[in-house]
Amino acid sequence: MARFAQDSIERVKDAASIVEVVSEHTELRRSGARYVGLCPFHDERTPSFSVDPAAGLYYCFGCGAGGDVIKFVEEREGLSFADAVEALAERFGVELEREQEDPRVEGARRRRARLLELLDRTAQFYAAYLWDSREARHAREYLRERGLGEEVLRAFGVGYAPSAWDTVLVRAQRAGYSVEEMAAAGLVKRGRQGGYYDHFRARITFPIRDARGRMQGFGGRTLSPDNPAKYVNSPENELFHKGRILYGIERARPAIAKRGRAIVVEGYTDVLAAHQAGFEETVAVMGTAITPEQVRELSRYTEDVILALDADRAGRDAMLRAQHVASGKRVRLRVARMPAGEDPADLLAGARPGAVAAERFGAALDEAVDLPAFHVRTLLEEAELSTAAGRDRALDEVAPVLAAMPESIVREELVREVADKLDADPVLVSRRVAAAERGGGAGRQASGSADTGGSPEERPARASAPLSEQERREQALLAMCIAAPAFGRDYLERLRPELLSGDLVRRARDWLLEHLEEPLSGLSRDDEELLSLLTRLAMLAEREPASPEAMEDTYLRLELAALEREIEARAGEAPVELQRKRTELIERLARGPAAHRAPSG
Ligand SMILES: [Zn+2]
Repeated sequence: MARFAQDSIERVKDAASIVEVVSEHTELRRSGARYVGLCPFHDERTPSFSVDPAAGLYYCFGCGAGGDVIKFVEEREGLSFADAVEALAERFGVELEREQEDPRVEGARRRRARLLELLDRTAQFYAAYLWDSREARHAREYLRERGLGEEVLRAFGVGYAPSAWDTVLVRAQRAGYSVEEMAAAGLVKRGRQGGYYDHFRARITFPIRDARGRMQGFGGRTLSPDNPAKYVNSPENELFHKGRILYGIERARPAIAKRGRAIVVEGYTDVLAAHQAGFEETVAVMGTAITPEQVRELSRYTEDVILALDADRAGRDAMLRAQHVASGKRVRLRVARMPAGEDPADLLAGARPGAVAAERFGAALDEAVDLPAFHVRTLLEEAELSTAAGRDRALDEVAPVLAAMPESIVREELVREVADKLDADPVLVSRRVAAAERGGGAGRQASGSADTGGSPEERPARASAPLSEQERREQALLAMCIAAPAFGRDYLERLRPELLSGDLVRRARDWLLEHLEEPLSGLSRDDEELLSLLTRLAMLAEREPASPEAMEDTYLRLELAALEREIEARAGEAPVELQRKRTELIERLARGPAAHRAPSG
């Protein structure tokens, strides 16, 4: 755990804008000194999620999720503490100091940093080569013909790899990289004679980055019609894993959060055309098949994923596999049908926001249908419906798909649609669906918990019980102690354990007594309950004004409640002394706030 010096962690927290980070996951609007929005951790219609930029905290009054910016990144992006700190440090330009580290871990980290740096330099070189070299003239021409403007090409760092065999090899060597490092980064490969040469040659290059903007590799497209390999990617290696890549995610993330949906297309140029046309929530998978890993990654940012992919049979099978993951993640997968034979890049060709083509694309997205419904309809379209045997086969095919859907009106309507198409009794269709459900198989798997392998980033549903009057008072007083530390210390000392209702709030009181000035710094992250409560208190402190009168009033009410508990516990045998104290407290409370300043007896 002690990988970073504590000081570095504090500097990351200071430098990171929590509003900016949270805004990538939910839309925030300003409300006084705070920002509010819909909670990204639970389903809600009215905002109970609050971000306090001054304190650097977020808190959800609905589900109790809360913490600082590091905690947010850990929870929302499923990163470890160390990775979250690193991601934020990188993003907000903080140099991290590390405490002594295992030399092997240190070595691996250095190596990785060098490979990333090498890829970055190469991306810059390719990009410059696209714009400046004579050789890339036809590439510039091609991109222009596809309607892609310089602005979007530069934003995505699109480049051109020279046709020579050793441009990158020689440049990287001169910059001090070993051939082994270049090969590990996927930039050079070994020839039959044992020598190395550039992996990408005479190709338009598309830098591929992860959600944090770190280079992973390149995609390269040839312009030569004779070349059988239209696209070449970086080889699978320690940085590049095809099945995980979402091309464009580093640029699409904010728009995905803002618009509450992600659009998935097939290729690099589809992404560029879509962004240029104003659909900045667009990413690409590599090829036609979306993988469960990609769905899992997207589920961190949105619950609505629209697939604008080729829906041939193989593509659909992949979609259905992804659906299994999606239902486990509460992600809704929908399919948008592109006009026949057109991919988004063709359709959008050169379109800017508001253009007719952009509107057609937008309409196709709006009409996207849920994946199971789409699948059922396509199966019916492809089925041989003129014979009874053919209709029976079609029913066999659609029944498991319907069985995989949760019982709903949508499913009922589909059942009726199927019955109608097959010229069959809806009861028969329902019976087949029920049989498929019982039979398990595809149906059973798809219905929910098919996401095996566990999902550490999945937060268990939080049910937060409404607070009792007692708890509300305790929290209000502790929050006021934070808000007005000059009086707070005194009240914290007077808050004896028996005035408080539980172990957690007592621990919070003990902690505050020692850390009133900075209630959250140095708190162990393993103690989730305490962290959540203190965050809540710190947020309440920002929200509610504290006055000595209100503090005294709340304190006396806690005293009174404790006294009444004690009297009750003694069941009628309470000493007169307790009864007298009780009367006195009630009178003091009744006299109202002005009287509270009188020194307490
Ligand atoms: Zn919440």
